[in-house]
Amino acid sequence: MQKRVLITGGAGFLGSHLCERFLSEGYQVIAMDNLITGDLKNIEHLFKLKDFEFYHHDVTKYIHISGKLDYILHFASPASPIDYLKIPIQTLKVGAMGTHNCLGLAKAKGARILVASTSEVYGDPLVHPQTEEYWGNVNPVGPRGVYDEAKRYMESITMAYHTFHRVDTRIVRIFNTYGPRMRLNDGRALPAFIGQALRGEDLTVFGDGSQTRSFCYVDDLIEGIYRLLLSDYDLPMNIGNPSEISLLDFAREVLQLTGNDVKIVFKPLPADDPKQRQPDITKAMNILGWQPMVGRKEGLERTYAYFKSLPPEEWAKEPK
Ligand code: NAD
Repeated sequence: MQKRVLITGGAGFLGSHLCERFLSEGYQVIAMDNLITGDLKNIEHLFKLKDFEFYHHDVTKYIHISGKLDYILHFASPASPIDYLKIPIQTLKVGAMGTHNCLGLAKAKGARILVASTSEVYGDPLVHPQTEEYWGNVNPVGPRGVYDEAKRYMESITMAYHTFHRVDTRIVRIFNTYGPRMRLNDGRALPAFIGQALRGEDLTVFGDGSQTRSFCYVDDLIEGIYRLLLSDYDLPMNIGNPSEISLLDFAREVLQLTGNDVKIVFKPLPADDPKQRQPDITKAMNILGWQPMVGRKEGLERTYAYFKSLPPEEWAKEPK
């Protein structure tokens, strides 16, 4: 019997890739999105498919779906600092009320639910690399607190539904992910560099560029999420690429790829910017048999080629 899956945030960067993956595996897919940060362009190529439906709906409001549901993937949430600093209350609401509604739906339908948490639950980590057992170093009233604490609450209420209502739950802690359909103007380093490179501008590095990040190519992430959903593991699991690089070295890699004759310029570091980020993926390797397959050079080439193929007016400059 064909399985039916609901993907909230389905018109976003990761949600749209998830829709494609589940359709290609033979599922019926419902994408739900209020388009606050997403874009119908990400999924318009799916509208013609008989197994695909789109519901324009805000998940902080009661969710009604008729018929059966086998799986829910709750990915609705602003995800980048530029977004959640602009819409902090909506960010808290989608993490709290949106997750609550999705869990209620999972309970009512007897569906398994996977929620999209984040490496931001570790805050500015005092442990490196971050294992799932680390509880984090988050400033609840700092500018990023609205996102970090919404996701921490999301994990907490998910475990409560698991323990008290026996809902079948999965929690993925996603580390920085990039690839086609990410928003170039979402304020994060990697898309910002690619956007600047496409427009032939100098690359902006915040601070001295010694802060590190680990970037996971989207296809690898989707594979990890797919395996986690179908596994029996119900505690939080890191999915990300442990290959770590300083932002300054990364800017140099982008310049090497594009061959642009531009400079790297430095600007002051924003408040609460994490200094280091690297997932410990031992659990994903042992339990899911998963590890990233796409190296940074290849992932960057694919991503750059994708954006280069778009009309230049889409190499966005100003945040949406
Ligand atoms: P995105 O902004 O591209 O997608 C999020 C989608 O959720 C958008 O389409 C948006 O319109 C939708 N949305 C937001 N609030 C909603 C609401 N109340 N009701 C319905 N839809 C709503 O972001 P993304 O990068 O695809 O992130 C998807 C999920 O993955 C988020 O939960 C995010 O926290 C998580 N995540 C992403 C990353 C990453 O590197 N991209 C890292 C960690 C966690």
